[in-house]
Amino acid sequence: MSVRKSAPPLKLADYYMGRDKLHRHELTRELRANARETLRRVNRLLRRAGFVCRISSGWRPAAINATVPGAAQGSKHLSCLAIDLEDRNGRLDAWCMANLAVLEELQLWLEHPEATPGWCHLQTLPPRSGKRVFYP
Ligand SMILES: [Zn+2]
Repeated sequence: MSVRKSAPPLKLADYYMGRDKLHRHELTRELRANARETLRRVNRLLRRAGFVCRISSGWRPAAINATVPGAAQGSKHLSCLAIDLEDRNGRLDAWCMANLAVLEELQLWLEHPEATPGWCHLQTLPPRSGKRVFYP
């Protein structure tokens, strides 16, 4: 019997949400590298925070991003530089807000919790404002 010491990390397959099949031509080598790096940083964050989270939105091919209500045209989800994690009770958002030094260390930026009710948006590139916590 094995004892699980920590939560299983998020997987690339979860991040692609099956979209790598139908939209394979859009998923370039650069995007795949971005996705790996996004998961690497976010998995480190979740380990530090001690949370187990599901991905509510990972990679968004252009055709899918266009159907997401409120999604930005230049959304970082298009280029595999952003992730949304389920966060119904806001606990992960609250943890991030209380641990901005960890976000800085891991080079992650957070959409302001007021703008993301029910989920937590993290990205690996700074927004134009450069602020660690930003409004979309
Ligand atoms: Zn997002």
